[in-house]
Amino acid sequence: MQGRMQDWPLTVDRIIDHAKSWHGGREIVTRSVEGPIVRTTYAEVHGRAKRVSNVLRNLGVQQGDRVATLAWNTARHIEAWYGIMGIGAVCHTLNPRLFSEQLVYIINHAEDRVIFTDLTFLPVLNQIRDQIPTVKQIIVFTDAAHMTAELPGALCYETLVGEASDQCAWGGFDESTPAGLCYTSGTTGNPKGVQYSHRSNFLHTLVTMGADVLGIGARDTVLPVVPMFHANAWGVAFSAPAVGAKLVMPGQKLDGASIHELLETEQVTFSAAVPTVWQMLLQHLEATNGKLSSLKRVVIGGSAVPESIVRRFRDDYGVDVTHAWGMTETSPLGTQATPNAAIAAMSEEDQLRFKLKQGRPPLGIDLKLVNDNGERLPHDGSTFGKLMVKGPFVVGEYFRGDGGEILDGEGYFDTGDVATLDEHGFMQITDRSKDVIKSGGEWISSIEIENIAAGHPKAELAAVIGVFHPKWDERPLLLVKLKSGETATKEEFLKFLEGKIAKWWMPDDVVFVDDIPLGATGKIDKKLIRQRMADYKLP
Ligand code: ADP
Repeated sequence: MQGRMQDWPLTVDRIIDHAKSWHGGREIVTRSVEGPIVRTTYAEVHGRAKRVSNVLRNLGVQQGDRVATLAWNTARHIEAWYGIMGIGAVCHTLNPRLFSEQLVYIINHAEDRVIFTDLTFLPVLNQIRDQIPTVKQIIVFTDAAHMTAELPGALCYETLVGEASDQCAWGGFDESTPAGLCYTSGTTGNPKGVQYSHRSNFLHTLVTMGADVLGIGARDTVLPVVPMFHANAWGVAFSAPAVGAKLVMPGQKLDGASIHELLETEQVTFSAAVPTVWQMLLQHLEATNGKLSSLKRVVIGGSAVPESIVRRFRDDYGVDVTHAWGMTETSPLGTQATPNAAIAAMSEEDQLRFKLKQGRPPLGIDLKLVNDNGERLPHDGSTFGKLMVKGPFVVGEYFRGDGGEILDGEGYFDTGDVATLDEHGFMQITDRSKDVIKSGGEWISSIEIENIAAGHPKAELAAVIGVFHPKWDERPLLLVKLKSGETATKEEFLKFLEGKIAKWWMPDDVVFVDDIPLGATGKIDKKLIRQRMADYKLP
């Protein structure tokens, strides 16, 4: 016997349908790649997304085919997303910050049929065009006036959309149909594809709409600085239309001045981005004595939020920061550090301790900590272990089965993060499991040491890796890139760390380097650092 409610597959076309029907006049404002600010509405975007579906059908795209986007956050990108997904094709977001060899690899692995792109990315596509044979068409998000002949055979988006019909039936397929594809950045081996379903995206959207999660509503004006190619803009391209929030899309200009201008002119109330974006904004505000007259909340994730960002937003601008953790494999939202009742009753300073943690799981996410043998560890806030995650919008298997079986016996996915969980259910990342330093059978957090070292006034960037030690297996090595013009000694840095970390965590050596490499999502590339330091021996 089954329940007796309506059969209503959870497919994402219903999200933009809803936005059109019930928030049709609500604006989407874009800083266009061509330059000017462009205004449209959910109703218009809906109609144009239908046209995109017809453009794709005319090009022979069928349900299940992969259609890629290599593009900034713009209204056109939103139209393409819904146009692709509405007919059951799979929207494959390409990250332009990947090396061109990686782009070639993932486009071929996904067998993308069509690529939608911005004018910005024509040079890179030109360079790889003859290495991606499955791609039949490249469609440039621009109008006839701005179309160039730079990429032979490329088509003009506005011309195609203008000629297509806006009548097209969406949905009608099973909710487990794939909707999106996003590859992990591949810091270990080749990138692997995470294939989202309509159902997983729909459920993730409902969860992110919760008051303790993104918590955005119809009265909000939302600026997703986090790109749509970076783990689905953390779901905002779904949740903003789902609630009828005004959407402000920053295009390609993500510097402090451009973001500040949009925040003020559009009276943005909510925004989401990685820490480096906020660092740039705060620097800009300081240099120009700027104000934030409407911004109320920002969500920060992707890497750990520095305490100084939370304090400056709170104390200087009255903006509440919520720290979030997630990964491509979790759609991406996994935890968010929204206080519970007990934490909210604490003093602001005590609350800060929890706000700097990565937070607690919403409904739909379950977490556990295990040791190397897979045995569960206590949630005492200090024992750290491998963080495992389970839920309906967590990856079950990589695209094409890459990597084989990825769940443990209880169905949990190994995040590759090492973390603690406290009595409030707040998770704190201690390290990546491949970066954690195993010294004499105990674990040392490389991140904790490098975060403290990076706070040294002469340091621009700091990284810590484990290096071979005959007695302890591994010992920490600190690499420092100094600010330009600075000089420093090893002793200065060790003295700076003293008292801030356990004695046995003290790096065995400090090496000053000209460059600390960053990967495609702006995180320190420790794999490359380890390669560069392969011949290094501890003193
Ligand atoms: P994204 O960069 O979108 O978060 P990735 O899949 O590229 O997704 O990377 C996920 C990894 O990023 C996580 O496993 C974790 O190591 C790191 N990460 C994400 N959010 C945070 C955070 N708030 N604090 C520390 N590390 C984080």
